[in-house]
Amino acid sequence: MARGGARLLEGGPIASEIRQAVSEDVAAYRERHGRPPVLAVVICGRDAPSMVYLHQIIRGCEKVGIEGRLVEVDGEASEASLVEAIRGLNADPAVNGIIVQMPLPPTIRLRSVVDAIDPAKDIDGIHPLNAGLLRLGYDGFLPATAHAAVEILRRSGIEIEGKRAVVVGRSAVVGMPAAFLLVRENATVTVCHSRTRDLARHVKDAEIVLVAAGRPGLITGPMLRRGAVVVDIGINVVDGRIVGDVDFEAARRVASAITPVPGGVGPLTNALLLAHLVRAALGQEADGALDPRVSPGAAEGAAARPVAEPASTRARVGAATRGDR
Ligand code: NAP
Repeated sequence: MARGGARLLEGGPIASEIRQAVSEDVAAYRERHGRPPVLAVVICGRDAPSMVYLHQIIRGCEKVGIEGRLVEVDGEASEASLVEAIRGLNADPAVNGIIVQMPLPPTIRLRSVVDAIDPAKDIDGIHPLNAGLLRLGYDGFLPATAHAAVEILRRSGIEIEGKRAVVVGRSAVVGMPAAFLLVRENATVTVCHSRTRDLARHVKDAEIVLVAAGRPGLITGPMLRRGAVVVDIGINVVDGRIVGDVDFEAARRVASAITPVPGGVGPLTNALLLAHLVRAALGQEADGALDPRVSPGAAEGAAARPVAEPASTRARVGAATRGDR
């Protein structure tokens, strides 16, 4: 329990459980294949904070027995060479999953890069096929951050069904997928953004508030309804400290539960990315059985089966996409 009454929703313990389950799946995969599953992490240019983040991902891979391969493309390289590098990874059967670090250099179009990733290796759910599958409520890879934001609620036993939820932020990779996942969990969802008139009124009405705006201090204590559950997805550096988008000290006096930053959504995002990688590897092992393009039951089956986790972790990871509408 946080001082001030709000329950602290920490991502660390949930992430540990997921990593444990992932390790078991990875060990079994290694037994069968004599090699680990492989995550390729592509970076174009040498943006310092991105490099730190990517090395964290690679270390996270190593801890669970996954091979993380850093694929560095020259920041001056053309869009065509980056796309070519991604196509090479698509064609490499030893590579099970691909993530591309954002932001890209300004000369490279995001759409070209996103389109180039094989949807079956798109473990962060950015390809239009996976985005479309999420929108339609079908099986596919979820963007890990949005998945983590909803999973932390589910795994903390927070009731979502029937609740009024507000998502602040409408980006294609965080805000919108989080909103779709909440709808799938039967919340009633309002999406706010920079053009929303009277953000405070919308937030005040919400029983669940997810914030992904990248604006420190955007959500203050008085904006929140007493007893609200707050998931702070934002990551900002202020005076050398990492903070979220919510004024944590004030919010925890009003909220019933709140995620800290750091230590909330972030650790769970990283763990789920690894879980998605294992799911991709298992899908490829089963000769495309989980590949959304070829799975005969992808559309129909999604309503019945959890997705986005490796087989043995499904029960434990739960499913932010259970689709039980
Ligand atoms: P983004 O693409 O910049 O999107 C920000 C969204 O917030 C936009 O929809 C924007 O509205 C909205 N917004 C900005 N200012 C606002 C305001 N004053 N009032 C209401 N809405 C406002 O950012 P993103 O990639 O979604 O990331 C959002 C945050 O999550 C960032 O802090 C990022 O670092 C963090 N993040 C965290 C994780 C994690 O693992 N925890 C992972 C990824 C990202 P418009 O659409 O109108 O511009």
